[in-house]
Amino acid sequence: MEKHFITDTLDRPLRDLRISVIDRCNFRCSYCMPKEIFGDDYPFMPESELLSFEEILRLAEPFTKLGAEKIRITGGEPLMRKNLAILIEQLSALDGVRDIGLTTNGVYLVKQAKALQEAGLHRVNVSLDAIDEKIFQTMNGRNVKPQAVLNGIDAALAAGLQVKVNMVVKKGVNDGQIRPMAEYCKEKGITLRFIEYMDVGQTNGWNFSEVATKKEMYEKLTHISPLIPVEKAYFGEVASRYRYKDSDVEVGFISSVSDAFCSSCTRARISADGKLYTCLFAESGHDLRGFLRNGASTEELEKYLTSIWISRNDRYSEERTEETVKNRKKIEMSYIGG
Ligand code: SAM
Ligand code: SF4
Ligand code: SF4
Repeated sequence: MEKHFITDTLDRPLRDLRISVIDRCNFRCSYCMPKEIFGDDYPFMPESELLSFEEILRLAEPFTKLGAEKIRITGGEPLMRKNLAILIEQLSALDGVRDIGLTTNGVYLVKQAKALQEAGLHRVNVSLDAIDEKIFQTMNGRNVKPQAVLNGIDAALAAGLQVKVNMVVKKGVNDGQIRPMAEYCKEKGITLRFIEYMDVGQTNGWNFSEVATKKEMYEKLTHISPLIPVEKAYFGEVASRYRYKDSDVEVGFISSVSDAFCSSCTRARISADGKLYTCLFAESGHDLRGFLRNGASTEELEKYLTSIWISRNDRYSEERTEETVKNRKKIEMSYIGG
């Protein structure tokens, strides 16, 4: 396949494509889909609004031509999308796709891990914010016990998937879980990544005082073992990585608030209804679904995507101010998928 590599106004290539396949979720994490807002009558997308698998494939193809080689499937909770393994299989067969990953809360992995691996999935990032029952049950808003997620992790490992665990840390809520979570993952040989709580969306009532910064979290870990920095594996890697001195197990920090990494952000995101977002904090997206449903050819799509990416100048996390936190109309994390 002939590639047409492109860069944006800040010289950032297009490398990663994140596709949200559904906006629904079985959890109501307070920092993402607070249950007071995402209640029984919340207007989630009807099935006709979701991109079909065929449409996702039609979109993925020009993205790979323009340089995207990694695809991550996300949501909402992506494992709630029917027949997801079929989509994974179809995406794996695309020329130019080097790696497919999935971000999930893990509960449905017990049932689906094997089929996903057989379909061509390589990696899963499982989100787990606490190992303490009460804390986790409160944070996920649905009383789900951590054991349900731990079972999912075990199923993924047994199926031969690479597993990383993601933990969003909210000060005063689960920062006391940093050490127990680190000890659990170290013991199991799993990379744990601590994510700074971000001001995505408009519903989580974000406040800087609730952010546990990378520096604060790092200090807590040194009580387990000194940490040795690990070189970044590629341009655009978002986690700063470390290895425990007394083992090969790694731990990472995604410090989008205290140490932004916009200058190497190579990610394009497609929402479940087919809008393209060039930043997690964007106010609006580009309607790819409309373009597709109006009969656009692959060449026309490629042209359209090129025109969007070459004008991209987003760098929200580097520019964050009290004013942007308060007044910018940002899309929800459950809609764009992280
Ligand atoms: N439901 C799946 C899950 O939780 O892994 C996939 C979608 S979720 C939106 C993707 C990731 O975004 C999760 O790791 C979640 O913890 C993270 N996330 C959601 N809201 C966040 C916030 N306000 N700040 C930082 N990370 C957040
Ligand atoms: Fe659902 Fe994931 Fe958001 Fe939690 S973080 S509410 S699991 S989409
Ligand atoms: Fe990328 Fe936007 Fe996040 Fe910066 S704020 S790293 S540009 S998604």
